Amino acid sequence: MEEQLRRCFKCGLKQDKSEFYIDKRNKSGLTGYCRKCANKRISERRRKNPEKFRQRDRLWRAKNPELVKRSEFKYSRTKRGIEVRKKNREKWIKNNPIKNIVAKRKWRKNNQDKVKDEYKRNKDDYITRTRNRKARLKNAKGTFSTKEWNDLKRKHNYTCLCCGKKELIIKLVPDHILALTKGGNNDIGNIQPLCRRCNGIKWNKIISLSELRKLI
Ligand SMILES: [Zn+2]
Ligand SMILES: [Zn+2]
Repeated sequence: MEEQLRRCFKCGLKQDKSEFYIDKRNKSGLTGYCRKCANKRISERRRKNPEKFRQRDRLWRAKNPELVKRSEFKYSRTKRGIEVRKKNREKWIKNNPIKNIVAKRKWRKNNQDKVKDEYKRNKDDYITRTRNRKARLKNAKGTFSTKEWNDLKRKHNYTCLCCGKKELIIKLVPDHILALTKGGNNDIGNIQPLCRRCNGIKWNKIISLSELRKLI
């Protein structure tokens, strides 16, 4: 029976032949170093002469674009690959904030259907999110959830408290009873449903609903 064990020239351990790389130039058809020692040697060489190996990698990649593509695709599907891509993306955004805004804007312009679909699907989510963001930017205290907003609309029977028109004839938006710019907070207690038109007329006035009705 053929000998299945082979001694590594480096570490001297007798190991199974599968522990050695194939090397056609060698009489035995296998490398003299075991896999572990061979890997160690190559990484030491890389460390000592990074530029040479980088160039060699570059050449290999240029010569084997299909293989590179395939292995990159495979890697991109792994957990680690996904993580690395996410990190790289975050890093890029951090280093290129303006470019990111421009790219996002361009994407939205070229994908208006997708943007509209997304908006329709999450209309109320979208409204609460933008209101909460605006409040944050104005340093106002408090947040409200989409559920709180929907509950409030239901409580008022989906009606604009000013003009009395109903959804879906009009679109209700959260109006801050005491405007954020006048020191109002962003909690649900300071919010009433108004249609866009009445909300626009009220703006940041400190005004009762009956007074507001006279203006519309
Ligand atoms: Zn070895
Ligand atoms: Zn109204």
